[in-house]
Amino acid sequence: MAKLSPIYADYNSTTPLCDSVVEAFLNWQRITGNMSSAHYFGQQVHGIYDDACDVIKELLGARSFDLFSCGSATEANYWWLYSLLNDVKGVPRIISTVIEHPCVMEPLLYYAEQGRIDLQLCPVGPDGVIDMDVFKSLLNESTLMVSVMYANNEIGTIQPMADVVQAAKSVGALVHSDMVQAAGKLRLDLDNLGVDAVSLSAHKCYAPTGCGGLMVRDKSWLRPLFLGGSQQQKLRAGTVNVMGMDLFSKGLTYCYDQLSHHLDIHAWGRELCQRFKFVSPIIQIKPGQVLWNTLPLAISNYISHDAMMRLDMLGVAVATGSACSTGAVDISPVISALNLSNELSERVVRLSFGYPTTSDDLIKISDLFVSLETNSVNFS
Ligand code: PLP
Repeated sequence: MAKLSPIYADYNSTTPLCDSVVEAFLNWQRITGNMSSAHYFGQQVHGIYDDACDVIKELLGARSFDLFSCGSATEANYWWLYSLLNDVKGVPRIISTVIEHPCVMEPLLYYAEQGRIDLQLCPVGPDGVIDMDVFKSLLNESTLMVSVMYANNEIGTIQPMADVVQAAKSVGALVHSDMVQAAGKLRLDLDNLGVDAVSLSAHKCYAPTGCGGLMVRDKSWLRPLFLGGSQQQKLRAGTVNVMGMDLFSKGLTYCYDQLSHHLDIHAWGRELCQRFKFVSPIIQIKPGQVLWNTLPLAISNYISHDAMMRLDMLGVAVATGSACSTGAVDISPVISALNLSNELSERVVRLSFGYPTTSDDLIKISDLFVSLETNSVNFS
């Protein structure tokens, strides 16, 4: 893959295209056709689509699911929720977590404000993981669905999905999971996990933006979000983005080919914090509980935005755990949910790495932190 310069440490935000995706993309110069057409071209494209869906399902261990293509994970998440609530009677309980991505959280809050759902948000502990006792206490017979993200985009924490599914099923609730950050970074076996619906996004898997997926165990739950053509079994109108799905399947294949070769980012993070006492982890990283690629850190004496800008000037792109508007620090709900001290929570930056990251990149980043040392106070 072409080397990115400056160093890119924001893979949870989006990923570059991997070589196999670029190669497949170039091949699309020789392909055309609408997969709804019965002629040669249409059927050729239909075949590519079917293969892509099979590959994605195979890689995620999701052979028993129906995979629908859509424009983004934002759409997939909303589509699922919209479908469930479309013809529901009464005010069902829906349980989610305080650390969901805005594209899950905002629709949930909207429906709750409309009085359409009884929304319960499960808190997380200081480790960024939901407390199963609290989660279980929220479940009742009127629980229609639980929506728990598998892995968090800001802090990388992985939720105990098998326990979530088991508890939800004990009251007959459906389980949805936003697996945007988990797909391609964790080995998944969705057929055995027992979730009912899963949202995916191609651009987190070294494929282009503008392509998402909604996988469901039973398509009779789905309702069309748009009125229009009869594509995708009349459930998602609009010409299917076959190229997007083809590239998504190639990107996901790349991820799972690379997964066993990734760098030990957390070991590097520990060394960084030892070398620079002004850098601190914000969560205790327990093995298997945080994505291998995600490193949320606090840097003393820099509020998040300033640290991000300074690092950007030094040559490494990271993300912030907060926004800064008119001088006030607006801490993200995910970081707030961790109940950290203000000193830490205003200073969070997220470094997220990818399969193309090299140990040389990590050495360079460590060395760049020397320039942050000036004016920095060590964390006690
Ligand atoms: N869910 C999570 C956990 C994400 O990280 C993102 C993207 O940042 C999304 C959903 C939204 O994905 P998309 O950009 O495909 O709408």
